[in-house]
Amino acid sequence: MDIHEYQAKEILSRFGVAVPQGGLAYSPEQAAYRARDIGGSKWIVKAQIHSGGRGKAGGVKLCSSEHQVEEEADELFGKRLVTHQTGPQGKTVYRVYVEGAVAIKREIYLGLVLDRKSERVMVVASSAGGMEIEEIAQREPNSIIRSVVEPAVGMPAFQAREIAFGLGLEPALTQQAVNTILGCYKAFEELDATMVEINPLVVTEDNRLIALDAKMTFDDNALFRLPHIAELRDKSQEDPRETRANDRGLSYVGLDGSIGCIVNGAGLAMATMDMIKAAGGEPANFLDIGGGATPERVAKAFRLVTSDQNVRAILVNIFAGINRCDWVAEGIVMALQKTPLNMPVVVRLAGTHVEEGRKILARSGLPIIRAGTLAEAASRAVAAWRNDSLTKVAS
Ligand code: GDP
Ligand code: MN
Repeated sequence: MDIHEYQAKEILSRFGVAVPQGGLAYSPEQAAYRARDIGGSKWIVKAQIHSGGRGKAGGVKLCSSEHQVEEEADELFGKRLVTHQTGPQGKTVYRVYVEGAVAIKREIYLGLVLDRKSERVMVVASSAGGMEIEEIAQREPNSIIRSVVEPAVGMPAFQAREIAFGLGLEPALTQQAVNTILGCYKAFEELDATMVEINPLVVTEDNRLIALDAKMTFDDNALFRLPHIAELRDKSQEDPRETRANDRGLSYVGLDGSIGCIVNGAGLAMATMDMIKAAGGEPANFLDIGGGATPERVAKAFRLVTSDQNVRAILVNIFAGINRCDWVAEGIVMALQKTPLNMPVVVRLAGTHVEEGRKILARSGLPIIRAGTLAEAASRAVAAWRNDSLTKVAS
């Protein structure tokens, strides 16, 4: 999950990272009010979207009057910014952040990422930060500092100091740099982040070290235990289809076919799609309901699949290990009793509590087509879909 710059700055400042004074606004008037509140004579108005590269896309404006702050904010609200990270559809601005502008002497890059190769958190830093960092990384790869953190130890102060020295900072700023690096690492570690980036981290004309921009990404699988992070989610910045499935704890990808699939496990879901194709049908989706699915979650999966207008038949394929067939069966019955479906449903259950599951389906009296093996399930689903289409055309 991504969050906004102003949210990342608020978090990092709690970990000892210095940030400019700023305030969030949802309207131009509010932006002007924020500027007055901050004081001074120069402000930066920044579009809050889940993307970097805003500066180049016209999303970061330097203003020298409250009136100008209001005008620039007015210009940004509702605008769709297209950056090199958003794709051509861009992202819409609903919030702007107003900050007191600072005079920059030097721009530095500081990032913490999960390095898959070393399986460690890695600090990446460069004495040449700012908007051209991608080009610098390509042109002069050796100018980039890389420092891997040993997880059993965490980041000792000397490691942060070594990075600070590598950046060529003057001695008076070393301690501030160490605090910044250690603070970022602590935030990364404590909050299950997958990325923390400050670009630029600047040395000001009056010799302070300040994070002018901040970006944080979190591990979705850890959000359940971090409610104060999870609540920072801004759905207006996300793909609506992904959001809908995510909200239901499901992993879903929509396709063009007509047979809806409800399966547990990504591998089994892929195999099920293959079998449907082999039997002459086309899957309408990939859907993994995950392990330990409750009846409620199964019912949600049903609603998600049947909300697709192209779906003409449903195939449920469960190989229960961690899952329980009786719970899955209860979910199916729950969903079908609530909203009777005008299409065939084929169910194949195997594994934990399979007998109980089958009994629940049989007792329900619902017109469920049962299958013993995956191949049987796929061919029955395809046959049922064909018959169904034929009868519907005939009648
Ligand atoms: P990004 O383009 O999305 O990464 O947005 P940034 O927050 O990094 O802003 C883009 C650029 O605007 C920065 O690299 C700075 O050069 C400039 N900028 C941002 N805040 C200030 C400020 O307070 N003073 C000055 N002089 N420049 C700023
Ligand atoms: Mn930036």
